[in-house]
Amino acid sequence: MSTDQLKSAALNLKKAVPLMLKHSIPTTPTNYALWYTYVAESNPKLNLALDSAIAQNQQYSPVSSELLYREHISDPVELDVRDMRQNLDAMVCELSQSLKDTNHDTNNFQSKIEKEFSKLSELESKGFSLEQVIKVVRNIVSESANIHSSTVSFTQQLDKAQSEINTLKQRLAESEKDVLFDALTEALNRRAFNEDINALISQSPSGACLIIADIDHFKQFNDTFGHQLGDLVLKVVSKRLQESCRDGVKLYRFGGEEFAILLPNSKQRIARQLAEAMRRSIEKLSVKDRRSETRIDNITASFGVSEWKEKQTTSQLIESADKLLYEAKRLGRNRVMPISN
Ligand code: GH3
Ligand code: MG
Ligand code: MG
Repeated sequence: MSTDQLKSAALNLKKAVPLMLKHSIPTTPTNYALWYTYVAESNPKLNLALDSAIAQNQQYSPVSSELLYREHISDPVELDVRDMRQNLDAMVCELSQSLKDTNHDTNNFQSKIEKEFSKLSELESKGFSLEQVIKVVRNIVSESANIHSSTVSFTQQLDKAQSEINTLKQRLAESEKDVLFDALTEALNRRAFNEDINALISQSPSGACLIIADIDHFKQFNDTFGHQLGDLVLKVVSKRLQESCRDGVKLYRFGGEEFAILLPNSKQRIARQLAEAMRRSIEKLSVKDRRSETRIDNITASFGVSEWKEKQTTSQLIESADKLLYEAKRLGRNRVMPISN
């Protein structure tokens, strides 16, 4: 995260906390996200909605907060989870600083008060009436009590907000996982693939390779043993493919029973060797269906392997690997194409 981003996140935090305190809004993760977005002014519709809620002096119910959150923030298009996480990191950092500052202020205030007290005793010794002195003392004491209790409650609120932000961070980390990973196979998902391949191609990557793998006659597993067993085959194949991915090589679920493997910095010959190793490891798989006690050991997959060529677009690279995969299927499946360069 850049210093600028950190500064603006910290600035937003400084604005959000007092606003929430002012409007007596409970510092729940949801409310925190709402008010953080409010002060960031990144979502005009949300600001209008919150403004009108305040204007109408509406009670803050968890449900209406949640609805606002869903309508304005959790929209997958608008919610950039990773951005939010970075902001949260900065917020947590800033919160601990605020806590320190607040304690520091309290201590300063106390030492000031002590000085006042010693001045007062001087006054007394100089012959002011005791009554006058007591009056001043009372004022100071009540003032100090007020300030102290408001500081303490602010500190407590900040404390609470901090722990809630941590919860929110955790939740975001989980949803970030949802956003990038496929729930069934635990491989990265298609969305992650699109992002990664576009980022990769934009760097004109010499030696970047794409492998597309497709399980052979997968439909038959579903048809013969049921969809659940089909799912199990997908999981097991994904796990096996994942085991072969090292050194920045990433596995994605590309579609139903298709996987993509991105090698950022390789050569077609190396990528082909990897695909060949993957092919052999899948061939060796054996999956047991607990219900029917059947063992499936005829799982195979076909592979298309392409190296990125100068000026090639993302879709041209995918098309090229896809063509080779189709070739592998046509030639009888359970093979890697091309055979050689
Ligand atoms: P080929 O060797 O030509 O690739 O044949 P195939 O049967 O593997 O290919 P086809 O495209 O005909 O069938 C793919 C099947 O994968 C169809 C679809 O129902 C199934 N499928 C897609 N996603 C899932 C999933 O998440 N779980 C299960 N169980 N099946 C899925
Ligand atoms: Mg397919
Ligand atoms: Mg298939």
